[in-house]
Amino acid sequence: MKKEVVMMVGPTAVPERVLEAMHRPSISHRSPEYTEIHARVRENLKKVFGTKNEVYILTSSGTGAMEAAIQNCFSFGDEVVVPVTGTFSAQFAAMAEAYQLKVKKVMFELGEAADVDKVMAEVTAETRGLFVIHNESSTGVYNDLEAFGKALKDTDTLLISDSVSGAAGLEMKMDDWHIDILLSSSQKALMVPTGLSFISLNDKAWERTKTSNIPKYYFDLKKADEFHKINQTPNTPAVYNVFAVDEALKIIMEEGLENVYKRHEDNTRLIIDGVKELGYDIFPKDDNRASRTLTAVYAPGKAKKIVEELAKKGVIVNTGLPPIADDVFRVGTMGYVYKEDVEAFLEALKEINL
Ligand SMILES: *Cc1c(COP(=O)(O)O)cnc(C)c1O
Repeated sequence: MKKEVVMMVGPTAVPERVLEAMHRPSISHRSPEYTEIHARVRENLKKVFGTKNEVYILTSSGTGAMEAAIQNCFSFGDEVVVPVTGTFSAQFAAMAEAYQLKVKKVMFELGEAADVDKVMAEVTAETRGLFVIHNESSTGVYNDLEAFGKALKDTDTLLISDSVSGAAGLEMKMDDWHIDILLSSSQKALMVPTGLSFISLNDKAWERTKTSNIPKYYFDLKKADEFHKINQTPNTPAVYNVFAVDEALKIIMEEGLENVYKRHEDNTRLIIDGVKELGYDIFPKDDNRASRTLTAVYAPGKAKKIVEELAKKGVIVNTGLPPIADDVFRVGTMGYVYKEDVEAFLEALKEINL
């Protein structure tokens, strides 16, 4: 039987080498062997984040790291601004509200990227944080973090970015772009099963932890930092996922981050051109802001059916998310996706006539 072509937007395809890295005896998370792996993962994650800051390893899906950012760096009643460009930014806003922050949402039409001037018009001296999703996986649009960083770097406002579906697929320069808190997770471009999330804070963000009054325990990053110094975590981490991410990061470093970004770029280009040739449009309003880790293809009223038909041909992609669940299907180029997979997808799509 032909191998399935898995082009999901998360959880993504896991390379054989990563699966094999988990096929091994268990070890204690307090053993020297664990600390050696933790130390290597820690260094490679810094490269992926483009930072000299530490990157902490949390056992949770990506949402946990979003929660950690709020718990550690904010206080009840803090004013924050959230540009809402789709499902994941709406979730970040809802989470901030659940923690009783005062949330100012800046709404954008689905398929649009967050306009920096429009967002910055809402940021005042009172604004404690700006939450920007790097890559909005629901609409296939990525935001200009560099521009947001530039706008905020000399202010007291923290720039928090969720790069769950960006990091390791899209260029990321946490330090150069002045991102204060950056977070991601294992099951997207990092090609690892769900179970780990990652978060990094710069000095400006650490400073804020001193005054934060929101209760925290499991995600207390000061405690995470104490253990990180000895290459451990406060509680039992998902040790097998750490094996997996260690191997995945080795694969990424062997290919080279620049080459990895280029492969994502090239594959996305092929998909965008390919679907347009077949008469489809993409959902993002501006091709220049179309994501390079997934493509949201516009197929009004037909998306679910197309996803089903593709699956019958062994090509696994995702439907849209509400409210565009049946108008968009999403094709992942995150992580373990190569040109052959893209060609197989386009070939299969060509055979579908609805
Ligand atoms: C997948 C994703 C998340 C995290 O979701 P989890 O299911 O908690 O891992 C958050 N933000 C974005 C942009 C995502 O794509």
